[in-house]
Amino acid sequence: MGDNEFAYVKDAFDTNWIAPAGPSIKAFENSLKKFFHVEAAAALHSGTAALHLALINLNVGQGDYVLCQSMTFAASANPIAYQGATPVFIDSEKDTWNLDPELVRESLEDLKNKGITPKAIIAVHLYGMPAKMGEIESIASEYGVPVIEDAAEAAGSTYLGKRCGSFGQMAILSFNGNKIITTSGGGALLSNDRHMIDNARFLSTQAKDNAPHYQHSHIGFNYRMSNVCASIGRGQMEVLPTRVLQRRANHDFYRDKLQSRSGITFLNEPYGHYSNRWLTTILVDPEKTGGVTREHLRIALDAVNIESRPLWKPLHLQPVFADEPYYGNGVSEKLFRNGLCLPSGSNLSKDDLERTTKVILETLETVTTPQSA
Ligand SMILES: *Cc1c(COP(=O)(O)O)cnc(C)c1O
Repeated sequence: MGDNEFAYVKDAFDTNWIAPAGPSIKAFENSLKKFFHVEAAAALHSGTAALHLALINLNVGQGDYVLCQSMTFAASANPIAYQGATPVFIDSEKDTWNLDPELVRESLEDLKNKGITPKAIIAVHLYGMPAKMGEIESIASEYGVPVIEDAAEAAGSTYLGKRCGSFGQMAILSFNGNKIITTSGGGALLSNDRHMIDNARFLSTQAKDNAPHYQHSHIGFNYRMSNVCASIGRGQMEVLPTRVLQRRANHDFYRDKLQSRSGITFLNEPYGHYSNRWLTTILVDPEKTGGVTREHLRIALDAVNIESRPLWKPLHLQPVFADEPYYGNGVSEKLFRNGLCLPSGSNLSKDDLERTTKVILETLETVTTPQSA
């Protein structure tokens, strides 16, 4: 937390706005609009709720198809299933680990031949690294399919100088506790189309028609953010630029200490891609480390109470999505096999970072090389 979150929360208590309504929600939404350069924003219960409402705005329903990045957290695809639609999983390219534009084109062409036009494409900026939005948006518009930007991990990232969260027809953010800024739990839907946001706000507050009594013509949801959480969000928006610098400094530290090691690689920022480096990730190639795998590193870190994690398991490999259509190229499976997320909190001290890199360096040296020709 920064310096002002608690003061805003106290203000919510002092004014008794302990409800999913109140002045902090408007103030938080205004700060989102300003920072992300969008026309409209709705603060919601979670990033997942925002994505759900985005799909409803695009009339996604039973029998529809939605393209979704495979290499991501399950929340990117779950709302497709909530709507009874079919997710079509698309593999990643190697430069950003996000939607491979060539595979997007291939899948759209293939579906077109089957008489299918997907209702949306969900593009994710994994670990904060912006996807190749230029190519993705131009292919999407060629086929007349709207893009929803899942910017849950990418608050503060930019692509060609434009903020992640301001692309596509709509974008979602997450303020879950693990994200670069948090409201404990929360999310937002952003768009330059005010109608989309107005409708999302309407649906998020139980779809109450304009009447003195309770009248409903649509199925609504209870997806609005609490005024208390929005108060935290106001303070967090003030420190977001600092948090980005802190995360990037973590990344630079790890890179400086580890990148000269054979078999350890970092994801570079392609031209025009500026990542918030939400999480610092490495790829471990056992053929070049003398047999050390990412699991060796993870277990060695865990033994001294340092938590690290494999990258997201691709959704096409998840039991719950195993039967869904998938257009692949092997990239996400390789990332999952070799990738590790390192401790990346904004509040890590230099000692913390040094302790982690020391364990990694020692493990790289101590694991013996397996027999090889
Ligand atoms: C966290 C996350 C979400 C979901 O956000 P919640 O606020 O936790 O519902 C969606 N997509 C991605 C890529 C995420 O990392």
